[in-house]
Amino acid sequence: MSEKYNSETVCVQAGWKPKNGEPRVLPIYQSTTFKYDSSEKMARLFDLKDSGYFYTRLQNPTNDAVAEKIAKLEGGIAAMLTSSGQAANFYAIFNICEAGDHFVCSSTIYGGTFNLFGVTMKKLGIDVTFVDADADESTIDAAFKPNTKALFGETIANPGMNVLDIEKFARIAHKHGVPLIVDNTFATPINCRPFEWGADIVTHSTTKYMDGHALTVGGAIVDSGNFDWESNAEKFPGLTRPDESYHGLTYTKSFGKMAYIQKATAQLMRDFGAIQSPQNAFILNIGLETLHLRMERHCKNALAVAQWLEKNPRVAWVKYSGLESDKYHKLAQKYMPKGSCGVLAFGLKGSRQDAIDFMDRLKMICIVTHVADARTCVLHPASHTHRQLSEEQLIEAGVAPDLIRLSVGIENVDDIIADISQALG
Ligand SMILES: *Cc1c(COP(=O)(O)O)cnc(C)c1O
Repeated sequence: MSEKYNSETVCVQAGWKPKNGEPRVLPIYQSTTFKYDSSEKMARLFDLKDSGYFYTRLQNPTNDAVAEKIAKLEGGIAAMLTSSGQAANFYAIFNICEAGDHFVCSSTIYGGTFNLFGVTMKKLGIDVTFVDADADESTIDAAFKPNTKALFGETIANPGMNVLDIEKFARIAHKHGVPLIVDNTFATPINCRPFEWGADIVTHSTTKYMDGHALTVGGAIVDSGNFDWESNAEKFPGLTRPDESYHGLTYTKSFGKMAYIQKATAQLMRDFGAIQSPQNAFILNIGLETLHLRMERHCKNALAVAQWLEKNPRVAWVKYSGLESDKYHKLAQKYMPKGSCGVLAFGLKGSRQDAIDFMDRLKMICIVTHVADARTCVLHPASHTHRQLSEEQLIEAGVAPDLIRLSVGIENVDDIIADISQALG
């Protein structure tokens, strides 16, 4: 499909392209393996001389069609699906960092990613420095070291709702000869395309808006193809020097602009195997077909709810970048002029217990460990997703102890507000 199509059309049409007489709708290739006519043909695949399917851990046609759609939506050259957003972020970093390396990361990121980077990856010998993404450039510069290999941030931080200044982050990363990796889960490519602002790699938890129905856990990594690994060859030996586990092949020489994503597939997925099942990729694709419609409604409803909350005397504060009063409103207008997402955060006047009581009184809106699906839902991060963080770490992650995270769905907004209103009492 040519690049001239708009995002809405890409959502519906991209990816699966049936040939004469083939199924119109993306089929689920429910097969671990693929048949070849000769030993020689199979051998060429193992040498990465021919491209083709041989084992679903490496590639599967259903997954590839969905990955292609996501790559097109982001304006990237290729994408890889993973079993979860966690796997996507792990691979995105591990693809260019090894023991002894370091990367810099915004401190206001999803709690799961914060643990992965700050605790688990440290055990692998990969060190991270968390920085305040709102700090000025020279402060963030100071976190870089000779062994720094990447800069990481989230377009819209979960659950602090901070908006990332992507251009600033890209400028900083490139000044230090490293790629900017952006987790674009909350904005989705419908509302923001980080590559247009200088990001090099984009990751997703497809579990959220992309699936949109809370049906499947999944992730994706998208490569812009823009980062010049060869110009910084000494920093990225995994991409620019021969890979012993692939007969001495060098990814940048063999795959050019596709080096990063090819290595992620051929090496990391081969060795770690956190694939998305073709069944889940099929379900994800159904979600993607309506992503553009749902995002529009999520944003419209969330703005109305945020404006209503802002006026309510029981509400202490509201964080939603669509609000003119919001600290990130200007950045959001720049990077997400169509709207940001359906998730907002707010605090009630009173104690932490008041927040918990409010949530328990909700009727239609459920308490769930999820965000970004069709049904409005609510969570208290300090008691739930971020429970393992200390009070200090909570503040650093942009999570006030009284923060209620509300994920506004696509129901009728009057019904959503009515439920909140009755629960406020
Ligand atoms: C949920 C989430 C993740 C983790 O994704 P899973 O699919 O749950 O593994 C990563 N980043 C962000 C921004 C998220 O919201």
